[in-house]
Amino acid sequence: SIPLGFFGGIGGASKNGILVKGGNYLEALNNVHTVVFDKTGTLTKGVFKVTEIHPKGNITEEALLEYAVYGESYSNHPIAASILRAYGKEVNKEAIESYDEISGYGVKVKVRGKEILAGNMKLMDKEEISYEPVETTGTAVYVAIDGVYGGAIIISDEIKEDAQKAIQDLRTVGVKKIAMLTGDSQSVGRKVAEQLGLDEVYGELLPDQKVEKLELLDRQKSSKGKLIFVGDGMNDAPVLARADIGVAMGGLGADAAIEAADVVLMTDEPSKLVSAIKIARRTKRIVW
Ligand code: ADP
Ligand code: MG
Repeated sequence: SIPLGFFGGIGGASKNGILVKGGNYLEALNNVHTVVFDKTGTLTKGVFKVTEIHPKGNITEEALLEYAVYGESYSNHPIAASILRAYGKEVNKEAIESYDEISGYGVKVKVRGKEILAGNMKLMDKEEISYEPVETTGTAVYVAIDGVYGGAIIISDEIKEDAQKAIQDLRTVGVKKIAMLTGDSQSVGRKVAEQLGLDEVYGELLPDQKVEKLELLDRQKSSKGKLIFVGDGMNDAPVLARADIGVAMGGLGADAAIEAADVVLMTDEPSKLVSAIKIARRTKRIVW
């Protein structure tokens, strides 16, 4: 049976916008060894801005952006939203004949008989497009039209205001290792990890590879300490499910993520994780 105090703890957590799906998770939060964060939308705002447009051949900047907009108009990914914002005009969605989002790669769309690809280098490789990698500190979205490379759109994101403090506070409450997994490039991943002082970072990961890295990090920690994964639910439901404690952020995010998570933070502040750990500690003192 679950000690009554746990219900108090769960109630206290929910008043703070933290949903804990059971007393066992509250108990587990008392003994966290490793915290693994997703990047986009979790440690960074997920609100990208278009900073550069590099068209190739005789395509104009405007035309390249428009191809990307048609490619992204059905996507819920934060990258898609940024491209639609930069374009700023309405899109005739009736022109879109088919739409395919490839998790961890990008999108493949048919518009007025043309096939548009928009995504990362892995998508270009997979679809055998000959393209030129762009040197950038941002995230590059490569675009191809009917199998021909059309250029790249560079977007960049910002670190969340409270991320730095959350990382410091996690160390204060005794977390031994803090790592980040991302589907974004190694260079973007390393830049964020350096700014936040994270212990480890793994980039260019597909959803399955995120699970593999999580398992590696799980094996590396001492057997008693728990491993937390924190994600925004975009492409990370499998990792949320695999962690000792899966934490979904943003409350109203993807249903699949809320389903897979053990703890749901109703706001998208990483510092809420520190609050959850502190509430779990207070609960333990009351219960035992
Ligand atoms: P993260 O791990 O940073 O949260 P995701 O796993 O959601 O990122 O996506 C990984 C990568 O896949 C992105 O950095 C991007 O390169 C590519 N990608 C995913 N969805 C899209 C999309 N809709 N448009 C363009 N690129 C995409
Ligand atoms: Mg993500």
